[in-house]
Amino acid sequence: MPGPVPPYTLTRKRMKNVRMVVRQGTGEVRVSAPLRMPQRDIDAWVRSKADWIAAKQVEALDHPAPLAPGPEADALRRELRPLLQAMLDEWVPRMGVPYPAWRMRIMHSRWGSCNKAKRSVTFSVELARKDYHLVEYVVVHELAHLIEGNHGPGFYAVMDRHLPGWREHRAELNGRQVD
Ligand SMILES: [Zn+2]
Repeated sequence: MPGPVPPYTLTRKRMKNVRMVVRQGTGEVRVSAPLRMPQRDIDAWVRSKADWIAAKQVEALDHPAPLAPGPEADALRRELRPLLQAMLDEWVPRMGVPYPAWRMRIMHSRWGSCNKAKRSVTFSVELARKDYHLVEYVVVHELAHLIEGNHGPGFYAVMDRHLPGWREHRAELNGRQVD
């Protein structure tokens, strides 16, 4: 007996062959099929690829789609802005640094960055998806760069003084650098 048909969304197109993609990040299955192909044939075709789909979906969920400008990024910004503002208000006086200009950006390889000369710090929009203590780690890290520009012993001393658990937080943010 054939197994169930994996759920999919169908688009009909002027084309000769069926095509299928599994979306990165969501694992959603999208099928494009020729205009006249019978529904049962499409179902059968998708069903015959069930093992492949299952494997691709595991892979897709391991590799979230890169965040692009749009409603999702805007929502993350709205969520993150007040949190960052509150953290900066707390940590700037505590660390005794000048209040920096700051902004949020879609960043693909880093969680944050700092320009010491310009006294400006930048935070990744995707921090909105991270736990409170990890956002706080990135904030403290960037503010520490207003004291020490490089990742030298002086920088680590500032981090140890203000956020002793920072090494564990860094490990939790694996994959991307906090610059
Ligand atoms: Zn750094």
